[in-house]
Order: sequence, then C-alpha cells, then structure tokens
Amino acid sequence: MRQISDHVFAEFLFWGCNPGYLTTPDGVFMIDTPQQPIDAIRWREHIETQGVIRHLVNTEPHIDHIAGNAYFSGVEVIGQRGMLPRYEEMVPRMDGEERRKALEEQDPNSSWLIAHPAYPPNPPTRLFDDRLALDLGGQRIEVIHHPGHTPPQTSVWLPDEGVIFTGDNVFHHVKTFIQEGNPWQWLESLDAIAALEPAVIVPGHGEPCTTAYLAEQGEIIKAWIGAVEDLVRKGMTQEEARTQRPNTDPYRIGQRLFPIEDGLNTRIIDNLYPRVRERMAD
Ligand SMILES: [Zn+2]
Repeated sequence: MRQISDHVFAEFLFWGCNPGYLTTPDGVFMIDTPQQPIDAIRWREHIETQGVIRHLVNTEPHIDHIAGNAYFSGVEVIGQRGMLPRYEEMVPRMDGEERRKALEEQDPNSSWLIAHPAYPPNPPTRLFDDRLALDLGGQRIEVIHHPGHTPPQTSVWLPDEGVIFTGDNVFHHVKTFIQEGNPWQWLESLDAIAALEPAVIVPGHGEPCTTAYLAEQGEIIKAWIGAVEDLVRKGMTQEEARTQRPNTDPYRIGQRLFPIEDGLNTRIIDNLYPRVRERMAD
C-alpha cells in the first residue's frame, strides 16, 4: 500500500487492478476492489483501520475491478448506469464452479471464499449517467463517465488531492487491453482526463504516472487503429486479419498474464476490425 497524496492511498502489488481509497474525517471512499478474495478480505481489514467505509465506486465491469465487491457487503456501491447489466452478467464468472476450480489451482487461499453465502454479489446500487459529485468530510469527489476501455468506464477525480483514478483508460508501461470499447471515444476521454490537470494519475494497471503519459497512451491506441486500417486496406477479412496479430504495443502484458498475451492480440483485432472497417467505409 502506497501513499499517493495527503489522503489518498493505493495498492500496486495485488493480483488484479490497482484499488485505492481516500480518507476523510467522515469515513473512507474506495475505488475498485481486489480481484482475489483473500486480498479483498485483507484490504477490507486494513481499510477499516482508517475509518468507516462510506462508498465504493467501480471504474469498469471487468473481473479484476469488481470481483472483490462481494467482500464489501454493507458498503454502498456506485456505478455508471451501464455498469449494472455488465456486473450482473459477470456474476456467474466471479461466483461459479469454474472460478472456484481455477482458484483451487491458482490461489487455494481464496477458493473457499467463493460463492459463500457470507459474501453475496455486491453490484452497484447508486447509479449515475455522466457525473456524480459528492462531498465527504469536506473532500470533493467527482465520479465521471469517461467511456473508452469499456463503455461504462469511470474516472474518480479528487480535486483537493490532485489525484485521478482512471481505471483501465490508462495502462502505464504495461500492455493496453483494447478488447472492447470504442477507441475513438477512449482518445476523447484521455483528453478529458488531461483537461482536469491532475498532479497524479493512478492507472488501472502499472505504476502511478502524470498527464505526460497520456499522449503516449493515446499513441498506443492510435497505432493499433493504424495497424488494423492497414489490414483492411490490404483487403483482408476479419478472419485473415486475426492470423496477422500485428502487435504494435511497446509494452508487455503484466507478468501474471503472460499465458494470455497472444490471445489478447486476437481479441483486440476482433474488437477493432469491424469498427475500423465501418469507419473507413463512411
Ligand atoms: Zn479492464
């Protein structure tokens, strides 16, 4: 756990995303939850020493940001409106027999905590569309819809601390997952994040960074779009394009995910090819 600013803390060593929290005199505001149940339980025990947990916001509907919600029952969960159906879709994958079996191999300390009645799914109950402004213990909190990496993608902007949590709209020096979502909207959201002028960005994955990195993040997305445009221009079908897997990302996937790196490139093509082709036909 690392201190990011006067009252903001985040963890960069969990298996999964970078969850964090803000402390205030009226309690704690959390951003995302650890993916592995044993980490989520330890995280809760730690955070509760810092104050009562008032709210939790999920930045996106991927398992590495929401699976730990189950271990924060009783805490109000905030989510962009599009989060709720995606969360509900994910429940069998987070809570089912398949995941329990996977955990028995990957992380036996966590497997007994899956699908236990003590840890029911904990989806967002407080929904917002574009922006939700809160005041907690004198700290301003702005929860902002920044579609990109996923359609309901959300940033948490803490202007009094100068810190923004972007979820996976920013992958700092690790491979960028573009397996869903609209890449052009993503570029617009990166501009919107820069316009807030945060001092520190806590990305979904990788170390904290500054707005200086946002241009590079944008270039990584543009390079993927360009690579797919080349394949479309060559007249390749989506099926043919998949076999090319033009990996333009300068960074490798996080070490824990090495086995899925090749498959991820195929998923990126499957997301980008129809979007790029449609745009080129316009
Ligand atoms: Zn993600």
